[in-house]
Amino acid sequence: MNRRNFLHTAAAATLTVAAQTNTPTARKMIGIQVGAVSFVDEGVEPVLDEFQKDASINTLFIATFTYGRGIAGRQVPGQPLPDHGKQQYDNSNGPGTFHGGSYTKIHPEFYKDTLLQNFRAPDFGDYDVLEAVIPSARKRGMKTICWFEDVWNDTVPNVRQAQERHLDGTNATTLCFNNPNYHNWLLGTVEDYSRSYEIDGIMWGSERQGAFADALRGAHGGAPGNPVKITCFCDFCESKAQQRGINVVRAREGFQALASFVQASRQGRRPVDGYYVTLWRLMLRYPELLAWEMLWTDSLRETYSAMYNKVKAVKPSIGVGWHIWHNNSFSPIYRAEQDLSELTKYSDFLKMVMYHNCGGERMAGYIRNVGQTIYGDVPQQDLLDFHYRVLDYKQEKNLADLPKSGFSSDYVYREAKRAREALNGTKTQLWPGIDIDIPTAPTSSKSTPDGTKDAVLAAFRAGADGVLLSRKYSEMRLPNLRGAGAALKELGLA
Ligand SMILES: [Zn+2]
Repeated sequence: MNRRNFLHTAAAATLTVAAQTNTPTARKMIGIQVGAVSFVDEGVEPVLDEFQKDASINTLFIATFTYGRGIAGRQVPGQPLPDHGKQQYDNSNGPGTFHGGSYTKIHPEFYKDTLLQNFRAPDFGDYDVLEAVIPSARKRGMKTICWFEDVWNDTVPNVRQAQERHLDGTNATTLCFNNPNYHNWLLGTVEDYSRSYEIDGIMWGSERQGAFADALRGAHGGAPGNPVKITCFCDFCESKAQQRGINVVRAREGFQALASFVQASRQGRRPVDGYYVTLWRLMLRYPELLAWEMLWTDSLRETYSAMYNKVKAVKPSIGVGWHIWHNNSFSPIYRAEQDLSELTKYSDFLKMVMYHNCGGERMAGYIRNVGQTIYGDVPQQDLLDFHYRVLDYKQEKNLADLPKSGFSSDYVYREAKRAREALNGTKTQLWPGIDIDIPTAPTSSKSTPDGTKDAVLAAFRAGADGVLLSRKYSEMRLPNLRGAGAALKELGLA
């Protein structure tokens, strides 16, 4: 190389470095999910100090609304309390701290077009978590993202007017995306956040799926469930189905037949032609089963899109993205529904859940569930091996050991790489959700500092634009949080 070429190359290299450090993506997003209770119990400044010191956190995902304990409240009762925060469980001394709802003030002007108007969490009186935290966060150069989820309960006034309907006509506790009361509540909420607070982003998550996948229990959690308690068959969904050319009567007939199939398989009554063939026969006889599943999925996508456009109309600089349910790592049906080339159209970022530690226990649960329906004829270890193949994982642990070991960091690497490739050339940033102390059964594997560190390293090795430490600070142990910090130091991101 002559001198002229050398100088030219050196200058180009300098320019590249400068360009990289100046682009917004150069600053990797290091986020943590945290609920109001942590700030109330431990104080805003001490919590933010801890975040910056332990794991170089630059973005707060504050749980602003939920009726669930997964992202709000203290440690789940029955699980060991972590090494910080109040050393007691919610509700442990009579009426306690956890009720759920909105942890921000309700500004009524945004909820005129919905009957859902009274959803304030009573847990901390007038406390507004965004008002309490944003000024300190901004002073430190930390971003704030409102994080809320699709989890409700029956105590909310008028909630019945927004609930989904099961196949058998009863109300579900879940809310229907096609019901204007819920649709307008979601739009009102994102407008409230966007106009009322100096926020940097909004993330919402829905951990549900349509009636077909639900009837087959194509998910990791929960009890077997009654196969007629599937959603949604409300008037709004039925009229939307008709507009799409779906025969509602045939659809209902198909789901009744599917429910009978599932009930029989649970009782070990094997169909003459076996489980898998019989399910295919139902799908061929009633293509409405899949059409109804896609109607639900499209309704979720339209909800994402409407929320995205609402926020962008108020303030384009607010980032909008979605928490993608862990079921994406287990169920091929649910993974097929998470079409990233579609989601990117209304996603500035995606938090793809890649919880490696609890992932083992959850995968085993999923295998048990579908092993009683679609794959009733397949030995469960064979079924697990099949899923490792079709989901493109390496040979992780055997079924008997999987809950005790969790998934390896290679699982995180493969999931992040796959998502990154699907999103290449799009605007959407990939922020894998990293598991820190998500509760598992006493006999199942627990988070460790090294396991957390390896998961964070794997996510970045696969090209992630950030990581989101999950699910909530109030259940994390500090050595494990520092495991994430150790990875960031090693990567030069601390
Ligand atoms: Zn509905």
